[in-house]
Parts: sequence; structure tokens; C-alpha cells
Amino acid sequence: MPIERPRGTNDYGPEEMARRRAVEGILKDVAHRFGFREIATPTIEHLDLFTKKSGPGIIEELYAFKDKSDRDLALRPEFTASIVRFYVAELRNLPKPIKVYSVGNVFRYEEPQKGRYREFTQFNAEIIGAPSLQGDAEVIALAIECLHAVGVKDVRVRVGHIGMLRAFLKLSPEDQGKVLHWLDKRNFPALAQELTRLGLERLESALRQYVELKGGPEVLDKGAKLLQGGGAEGFDYLKALAARLRSYGIEHVTFDLGVVRGLDYYTGMVFEVDSPNLGAEKQVMGGGAYTLAELLGGDPVPQTGFAFGLDRVVLAAEAEGVKLPVPRLDCYVIPIGAPMQAKALEVLVSLRRAGVSADIDLLGRGPSKNLDYANAIRARFAVLAGETELKKGLVAVKDLDSGAQEEMKLDDLIARAKAPQRPKA
Ligand code: AMP
Repeated sequence: MPIERPRGTNDYGPEEMARRRAVEGILKDVAHRFGFREIATPTIEHLDLFTKKSGPGIIEELYAFKDKSDRDLALRPEFTASIVRFYVAELRNLPKPIKVYSVGNVFRYEEPQKGRYREFTQFNAEIIGAPSLQGDAEVIALAIECLHAVGVKDVRVRVGHIGMLRAFLKLSPEDQGKVLHWLDKRNFPALAQELTRLGLERLESALRQYVELKGGPEVLDKGAKLLQGGGAEGFDYLKALAARLRSYGIEHVTFDLGVVRGLDYYTGMVFEVDSPNLGAEKQVMGGGAYTLAELLGGDPVPQTGFAFGLDRVVLAAEAEGVKLPVPRLDCYVIPIGAPMQAKALEVLVSLRRAGVSADIDLLGRGPSKNLDYANAIRARFAVLAGETELKKGLVAVKDLDSGAQEEMKLDDLIARAKAPQRPKA
């Protein structure tokens, strides 16, 4: 019996991996353009890091285990906790604001389906130590620019504010966490049960209406009414945020008071981005403002962050037919006849030394089979090393996209291969 890969994990072949790397490269470029710098944290962390943040219930959703010295560890389910741990221990000595990003795999023990896996890759960005309004706007602008740069056009940004609900509920953090959890999951029977337990059944109808509010600034006024004046600051804050985003050129933000976010540590603005083409798992990104440093032993500091699911961004790009800038092999060298093998290798070596990606027949196939192979691996040029041309100091070059063939000097081929490629329509 062949061994299968574990449930909820993926293998990625060369074509798919190239698309993933292309998307990752674009996201990193945009982050650099916005002044963010890359950091990395371990894939395994002490289990405490996650239970401190989210309570023991989180263990169910984690890959948690004991190591050989009986330490409780877990594979990271996200980046934020690790980054804040790193901040409290070391990064806080850096000048503020601290703008960082990370890319890597995260692990969650959840029910797999299309776009939802147990191991997946996140692109995570955080600003620590900027005033909330400025930090929140910068982070939202980065998230939107990332998707535009990838070429995903149909994006819906929904912005809410968890602080208003927290102010309205006036509960202990633990009880608040439970109510918000059921609201986030839209599990209204469980919500009703929880509210009854807390003697707050009178709030159920207002809460249910509240999380359905979605639209322009008018929903903020409606929300304020439902909360009977509770959390007014949050509504004003969202109006100011929308005004600041307009200065970034971002006109269309939907206010969505139903963005509750599953994790307990969000305290202020929360936002999500959807790619409606993805069906059920359409949320490509989620984030918001949170306070976590105190919980991990640091001083209070404003923080805002988000995480893209890389797999979902790639799926969103594919769903919109985006041509991703996937690198191709420049030249595939084909010796014409066995005696040309040595000369063909010289051509290959010259191309590679000049910085051109080049490959050569390793199987001793004839020219036509070699051309099939060159097309199958989507090489740009087939370089035919034939005796007649080589005697003239030339090679025959077939452009595999247009089919055109011409003789040229090796230097000219190198120049052509290295010239910037125009994206194909
Ligand atoms: P979260 O950390 O839960 O806010 O998730 C941030 C983003 O990661 C989501 O918007 C998704 O794009 C992605 N994501 C979350 N869970 C999964 C999963 N199980 N599989 C693939 N992507 C996921």
C-alpha cells in the first residue's frame, strides 16, 4: 500500500509551486514598498503561548504534542502570537513603529475542504507601536494593494470594530469570549443559550440584528442605536478611518458590524477581505487591531496585523484568470546529431554562465522528441546546436511561443533571453 499524505495537507508540483512563489514574491515586494521588513519565528512554540492568548479550548484546534523532554509544544496555528512573543523579548528595542511581515506554514486541526487545509501558508504583516488610526489605515492599505498587485480585482473589504461590542456587553473577558465566539460562528442557538446562562437574553435580538449590519456610513448610526449609545467612540473611529483611507485612494470600504473574528485578542478595528469567486471559503484575509503584548508580559502598545491565506490568494488569482509572472526556462539546448553533444554542452555552459537559465537533453533523444520536451516544460527558446551553424559561430534559435526560427550569435541570444519580457495578453 502506498503511503498517502496526511489529511488536510498538500503536495505542490512545479507549476503550482511556481504560481505560489510568484504570488509570495509580489506580496513581499508590496510589503517592502510599504516599508515592512521580513522576520521569521519558529514553527514550534510552547503550547502556553497559544493557551495564554486564547484559553485551553484552543488545544482542540492545534497540533499540540509533548517533546522527548516532556515539554508541551504546538505547531503554530498563526503568526501573531509568535511575533508578539518576539516583540516582548527583543523587538521592542527597535525604533517604533515596528513594521514586519512573515511568510510560512501554519497548522490547524480543522475539517478539511477546498481552500481549507490543516497545513497552509500565511503571509502575515504587523505594525506595532503606531497610533491606532495611522496603523490601522496603513495595514488596510497594504492588504488591498497586495491583492491589486497580484492582479485580483474582485475584492470586497469589510471593516468592523470589535471594541463596540465589547463595550456593549460589559462582561468578563471569558464570558465575552464565549458570546463573541458564537456570534462569529453565527451559531444563534448556542448564542441564545449562552446569553440565557448570563441572564442577558434581552440582548439577543439586538445582537442578531447588529451582526447583520453591512453597508455605508448609515450602518454605523443604525449600529449605535442598537447598542443604545454603547461604544460610540468606535463608530466615530470608523468614520475617521474611512476618511483616512480615502486619502490613500481607497474609496470603497464596506462597514460590516458582523466582522467579529474568532480570536479573542482583537480589541479595536477588525477587517476581512473576500474574493467572492472562491465560494464557501472566500475569505482571503483577516486582521485587525489587538492588544496582546501585556498578556505576554510586555507594556501596552497598539498593534494591528493581518494574515492572507496564500493558497486562497492563488485560488482567487486563478479564478479571475490572472496570468501570474511565473519564471520559465529561457533556453533548451538540442544537439543536432550525436557528434554535436560536446559543442552543445559548451553552448549550455556559456548560457548558464551568462545568467540565462538553460537546460539540455540528458536522454540522447532525437531533435523532434527534444522539441516536444522543450514545449512541454514551457521553455522560451529551443537552441539547435547543428554543425553548419556552429561552424559559422551561430546557433539556430526557435522561439517556442511564436514558432519563428532564426540563426544568431550566442551573445545575441543571451541579450534576447535577458531582455525584460513583455507580459503576454
Ligand atoms: P485567520 O488567521 O483565521 O484570520 O485566517 C487568515 C487567513 O488565512 C484567512 O482569511 C484565510 O485566507 C486563511 N486561512 C485560514 N484558515 C485556513 C485553512 N484552514 N486553510 C487555508 N487557508 C486558511
